[in-house]
Amino acid sequence: MECAICQELTITRTEQVIQQPTICNTGSQEIRDRCHCCGNESTQSIILPALPPPSPVYSSSSQSSSTSSNSSDFGGGKSGGGGAGEDW
Ligand SMILES: [Zn+2]
Repeated sequence: MECAICQELTITRTEQVIQQPTICNTGSQEIRDRCHCCGNESTQSIILPALPPPSPVYSSSSQSSSTSSNSSDFGGGKSGGGGAGEDW
């Protein structure tokens, strides 16, 4: 990240989820970019897309060894969008 003020590469990005998205509602996240060189700080809030509805899993194979039915949670949830280029 390059600072827009002093052109230094001293930007520290902090991402904080304000509201977790649910299946019904979108969430929001705040991205805070702070420059250690000139102290410039800019925040932007992005909308997190709503979670996809849980899709039923059909077991095609005839094996029925496990009977646990815990719902698979989607880890991460950082599906792109928003368009902000994330280069690390
Ligand atoms: Zn700066």
